[in-house]
Amino acid sequence: MIEVRELSASYGAVHALRDVSFTAPTGEVTAVLGANGAGKTTLLRTITGLVRARAGSATYDGRELTRTAPELMPRLGIAHVPEGRGVITELTVEENLRLGGLGRGRGKAGAEQLDRIYALFPAVADRRSALAHTLSGGERQMLVLGRALMAEPTALLLDEPSLGLAPRIVAQLFELVQTLVAEEGLTVLLVEQNARSALSIAHRGVVLSLGRVVVDDRADVLAGDDQLRHAYLGF
Ligand code: ATP
Repeated sequence: MIEVRELSASYGAVHALRDVSFTAPTGEVTAVLGANGAGKTTLLRTITGLVRARAGSATYDGRELTRTAPELMPRLGIAHVPEGRGVITELTVEENLRLGGLGRGRGKAGAEQLDRIYALFPAVADRRSALAHTLSGGERQMLVLGRALMAEPTALLLDEPSLGLAPRIVAQLFELVQTLVAEEGLTVLLVEQNARSALSIAHRGVVLSLGRVVVDDRADVLAGDDQLRHAYLGF
């Protein structure tokens, strides 16, 4: 499980995270929700050591993450998929996927792992020889997720995977995340502005507002709370 305890982070005078505490249980999807600027991206970046924690801790199965170099995350079983779907556009889909195996010390990312990714993402398999810049937004999101899975993580930190995608594609993407969790027991932290979709696959939800946790509860409790939905979740 991922345990976040009294985590705080700042950008100069901007306190982006204030005393954030919650637990993301093993084998579950924990949605991190909240408006623009609530601190969701900063939370993932602080957990993985990209932003320095001013105070507090984040551990994964007891190991401290916030003071571990970001490039060591794959070795701890953590994959961070940042927002923006960054890929190397001049490389093919398959070359991009192979890069995902490197962080864990697998220079020769095996055919076996590639086959597994292609089985999970048939749309990516169909485009394996295409240059990455030719992919649609949805295909590109599948590619960055597949690339992260090449390192065989046990925990996935996903930042706004649904942003800008058509509802049908979002449904496919979230269904896939749900399958991964059910079949492989992955622990997922899912940062989303699309609260309705995120809660439909999440077990728990944590709502941030101005860098603080305002609610931390079961996903069905959050989805069923009209006042909370109107105040913080926008649906
Ligand atoms: P979004 O959905 O827009 O990404 P968010 O919930 O992920 O929002 P953050 O991006 O974590 O929120 O931002 C939290 C706060 O920190 C905001 O007030 C934001 O303006 C500020 N902030 C974020 N990144 C930086 C930065 N690099 N420098 C200064 N302030 C920043």
